[in-house]
Amino acid sequence: RTVYVNGEYLPETEAKVSIFDRAFLMADGVYEVTSVLDGKLIDFEGHFVRLQRSLSELDIAEPCTRDELLEIHRELVRVNEIHDGLVYLQVTRGSDGDRDFVFPNPETTKPTLVLFTQSKPGIMDSAASKNGIKVISIEDLRWHRRDIKTVQLLYPSMGKMMAKKAGCDDAWLVEDGFVTEGTSNNAYIVKGNKIITRALSNDILHGITRAAVLRFAQEAQMEVEERNFTIAEAQDADEAFVTSATTFVMPVVEIDGAKIGDGVPGAKAKRLREIYLEESIKAGV
Ligand code: PLP
Repeated sequence: RTVYVNGEYLPETEAKVSIFDRAFLMADGVYEVTSVLDGKLIDFEGHFVRLQRSLSELDIAEPCTRDELLEIHRELVRVNEIHDGLVYLQVTRGSDGDRDFVFPNPETTKPTLVLFTQSKPGIMDSAASKNGIKVISIEDLRWHRRDIKTVQLLYPSMGKMMAKKAGCDDAWLVEDGFVTEGTSNNAYIVKGNKIITRALSNDILHGITRAAVLRFAQEAQMEVEERNFTIAEAQDADEAFVTSATTFVMPVVEIDGAKIGDGVPGAKAKRLREIYLEESIKAGV
């Protein structure tokens, strides 16, 4: 596999980043994951705009322009022959060759830019998307700036492990009695014609897939209600699902052992998945 590091395309075995890089020492970095379907980048623009926002919230300089970044994405998709999969991008504050809580001088320290691809054949009709996934609920113990897409992913990773131990696929995070989001996705319930999901704030990541799916839901005459909901309300809903760049719209069929609706993927989740895949491939670049 060819990867990209700070201006160079290299075989993955030759790519190097300093051990003093602040992402390695302090999780001082942000990332984006852009999916590739049919060889096209899905919602590149949305991911780029969110990257700019994450960087600006943390005072990390933009490592290159939008056009350069698009070119790097396209080149990696091309050389690695990615038909379906993803491009992972990470920007870190870099390092001045020492460990210090104080940020290094931005005049002399350049951000680190790394990109690589992952091939995911068959991702569009995975078994999980046909059968739905089972989730458990756990307390949301993450920091309070979840709107910034940082590489601090230890708690979400622990959450997935807790889910696996419980024989499930993922965890929904709960704070003050209400679901915030999934470990790596936004969470929704469906009641009648209504799609219900938590409103945007610093409590959740502003999903790029979320924005697209809510727009498609409205265009398909579904009602969208942005508000908090509890696990009890979710267990009693007609349907549940999650969204993310790599799972698109993924039906949830069980929450903490309780079946949702008939315990199979719901009609609205299935419809939104179809629309999302069709429309975003059409708009892909
Ligand atoms: N919420 C969290 C915590 C995430 O990590 C992710 C994606 O990684 C999402 C939501 C979904 O965001 P997107 O649709 O932009 O992939």
